[in-house]
Amino acid sequence: MPELNMHVLLVEDDLVLADGIARILRGHSMVVDVVNTGDDADRALSSREMSVVVLDIGLPGIDGFEVVRRLRSRGSTVPVLLLTARDDIQDRVRGLEIGADDYLVKPFAAPELVARLKALVRRSNPRPVDLQIGRLQLDPFARRATVDGQVIELSAREWAVLEYLMQNAARVVSKHQIIDAILPWGEEVTLNAVEVYVSRIRSKIASAGLSIKTIRGFGYMLEQANR
Ligand code: CA
Repeated sequence: MPELNMHVLLVEDDLVLADGIARILRGHSMVVDVVNTGDDADRALSSREMSVVVLDIGLPGIDGFEVVRRLRSRGSTVPVLLLTARDDIQDRVRGLEIGADDYLVKPFAAPELVARLKALVRRSNPRPVDLQIGRLQLDPFARRATVDGQVIELSAREWAVLEYLMQNAARVVSKHQIIDAILPWGEEVTLNAVEVYVSRIRSKIASAGLSIKTIRGFGYMLEQANR
């Protein structure tokens, strides 16, 4: 999963809690703006682009519900996670009905807050676009490769190699670049293994009107086959 650049607006009038949450989120490489009233939240959300909002319901001045209502009436789709101290199901239902995306009841565990915020931001980001060259189409979201609508069965690593070659179509890429692209977690993969993946991919996409040229001693280039 690619790293998300997250800019969080945290709205919480309990200063100790606000400070604690902000520290946790910053510890996860998020940029955090903190405001302590509903009015300040409304002002911040009118003027700044945020990735996600963490919003306490009980606030001085306008409450969290009103902040969400105004936000949605301006047409904003920024995801909102409500924090509520109240053990009141009606509050949660109301929050979701007026356009909040999720909620957490205080007290909550820090890892759950972080996980939910990441999930909200991921869901709100547009899906990656399909890659198409010749008659081969890759749907990165569904992780599906098709030729003329026929699904090509690929292992996870074959998929990753093919996706990288497609993203760099008509460019020469080295075997080392391929290894770096498919293995962000520091696993070991040999140059020989890359050759094996590429040769399997070649036979699987043989009907797609593409060729994967070998650049001897260096790497590969995917391009449309000459007819
Ligand atoms: Ca409060």
